[in-house]
Amino acid sequence: MPEMLAALSSIRTVEEMIAAFRDEQHCRRLLESMVWPDGRICPACGFKRSIALADRDTGKRRARPSLYQCSSSVCRFQFTVTTHTPLHSTKLPLRIWLKAMWLLLQSDKGLSSVRLAEALGVSQPTAWRMGHALRLMVARENMLAGTVEIDHFHLGGRPRKNPDDPPPGRGRKGQTNTDKTPVMAMVQRPTDVMPGTLAGDARAAVVTGLSARASERVIEAQIESGAHLMSDEWKAFMAIGESFAKHETVKHSSGEYVRDAVHVNSVEGFNSRVRRTIAGVFHHISPQHADLYFHEIGFRWSQRVVTGNVIRKTRHGRESVRALWSRVPPALQLPNVFRAATGRQMRRSQDGGIVIKSAVAVFG
Ligand SMILES: [Zn+2]
Repeated sequence: MPEMLAALSSIRTVEEMIAAFRDEQHCRRLLESMVWPDGRICPACGFKRSIALADRDTGKRRARPSLYQCSSSVCRFQFTVTTHTPLHSTKLPLRIWLKAMWLLLQSDKGLSSVRLAEALGVSQPTAWRMGHALRLMVARENMLAGTVEIDHFHLGGRPRKNPDDPPPGRGRKGQTNTDKTPVMAMVQRPTDVMPGTLAGDARAAVVTGLSARASERVIEAQIESGAHLMSDEWKAFMAIGESFAKHETVKHSSGEYVRDAVHVNSVEGFNSRVRRTIAGVFHHISPQHADLYFHEIGFRWSQRVVTGNVIRKTRHGRESVRALWSRVPPALQLPNVFRAATGRQMRRSQDGGIVIKSAVAVFG
């Protein structure tokens, strides 16, 4: 159904979006074309042939439209497009879901559940769960590669001052004694600065205790060993860098921030985006759900494209090329969200929260 997706990409305004997501059957077909871009796949076994059960008698009752049955003789699983996705067993119409996703993807920094609830006319807890459904679907498992900048920071403002600590210097010395959440951030640099180039993937993860070993575990799980790492000279990074093909550092301690292509400007930009988003949009996040918010912020970071370049002179009179970015239109982000929906499952918990049953996509 490529023409359906082509029509989707022509949506520019909220009004056009509401018109496009008016009809429930149309929304279902749209969702099918996004979740199954290469044809229906059984979510239970991955078999590529299935039959539509629409209006057939399945014994107890007439089959729902858009109910399918796996053609594998050993499976015969019955499914719809939302089976084994975060939208599984939803009571909300799909048109509300699509509007929610569109609104979330349209904003630069995300929407709080209060704002989303207002816009959709649903309850705040429902909007909160919808936000988490998006966060779960945009988690990515591919390893970062190429040139990858790494950095660490603390979430939730400056660490508490402790008179017994040495004064914090530029290299974040003396910040070990803190109750803030330590986070590791990783950003893959885009391959070039030509217009049309997508921003690289970006990841963040809570690192309990920020020990060298915990940091190493996080980094090695996310970055290919053939990657070219860039970081500051934090001690743990020096050790971690040895397991990668190449590692270059900037000496923040001696005031060095850029040495030709060696810098951590992208990851520092990502860090401040994470901090500003959490402080400005989500206010407080539980460490338990922090990774979900990081998935969303990282996905937003990656859904940008170079639109042009400006040449800027540095303080030392050298010229540097600075890329100008613009957000990928939400209608084009939607297929990227839903292609990784199958396999990621969450349920509503007894207390109205969420339980994540599986965070790994099976296809896509
Ligand atoms: Zn099957």
